[in-house]
Amino acid sequence: MSAPVLEAEDLGVRLYPSAGAVHAVNGVSWSLRPGRTLAIVGESGSGKTVMSLAPLGLLPPGVSSDVTGSLKFEGRELVGTPDEERARVRGAGIGFIFQDPLSSFNPMRRVGSQVDEPALIHEGLSRRAARERAVELLSMVGLSDARRRIDMYPHELSGGMRQRAMIAMALAASPKVIIADEPTTALDATVQAQILELLMELRERLGMALLLITHDIGVVAGMADDVAVMYAGRIVEHGPARAVLKHPDHPYTRGLLASVPPPDALPGTRFRGLPGTPPDLMAVTAGCPFRERCAYAIEPCATRRPPLEPVTVSRDQRSACHVHPLVVEHDQPAEVAP
Ligand code: SF4
Repeated sequence: MSAPVLEAEDLGVRLYPSAGAVHAVNGVSWSLRPGRTLAIVGESGSGKTVMSLAPLGLLPPGVSSDVTGSLKFEGRELVGTPDEERARVRGAGIGFIFQDPLSSFNPMRRVGSQVDEPALIHEGLSRRAARERAVELLSMVGLSDARRRIDMYPHELSGGMRQRAMIAMALAASPKVIIADEPTTALDATVQAQILELLMELRERLGMALLLITHDIGVVAGMADDVAVMYAGRIVEHGPARAVLKHPDHPYTRGLLASVPPPDALPGTRFRGLPGTPPDLMAVTAGCPFRERCAYAIEPCATRRPPLEPVTVSRDQRSACHVHPLVVEHDQPAEVAP
């Protein structure tokens, strides 16, 4: 088995808003191998985006943070590494795709000059060669008439086209890993499906690894090899995507899946969302942080934090729950007909 290209070990991030501190990410570990997709899933505020951006020095300006533990790219430690070194790794080794391409592009510069920038900086191409590379990349991501569109400004492209252009920009320096943070949230359903399909196709063709960050567990099926579900800054379930989606153990994973409409749902059908809201991370206390929303909660849930441990009935699947509903259901004796 190949070595991980990106690997987190006991990763923690504290944020310092105007008052106090928020432990936004706590003891998170995962690994991503070449050619694989790991999906990090959780509601907004679960820590998934902070976890992937803070160690790489990509939090918005003015957000003060303290990162502990380890994040390694091809064995090279990024936590505590000087900014210039991290910038080199980011540019040449890791490409980023964000939710809102409009705010990621400079509105005053033509699309082509932004797409070819990583190739100019990190691959040392001449301006002419970089421009040809930008046309090639934009064509590769399915932007029709790329030679003409390269000279357009970002606002002249549709949302789907801008997202394709951002994917082209992420690919410009031939990265080993793409981090896609909610890459389709701002798009309509048809364009969403096209962009996800494009990401999968590029991952296969270019042999990259993909770290997919999403609040929508529905997009994980068919895309991810592995999934890590995050709640209140911690991983609460982790394992092969097929196993976790088919037989979820953690009540939070079960809740996320129950709120996804099945593909054959009739228009207007209502679905049960998760009750309640995520906890305030500045006020998290002892016990399981999910207990206020959990239908399975028992007494120890109020005082003891459940460890992430193997789910005995499922190979490679781990879950942080005192009850382990999957194990309980598995051990339930079959009902005997009277
Ligand atoms: Fe629910 Fe308790 Fe499991 Fe937390 S530990 S998810 S409260 S059953």
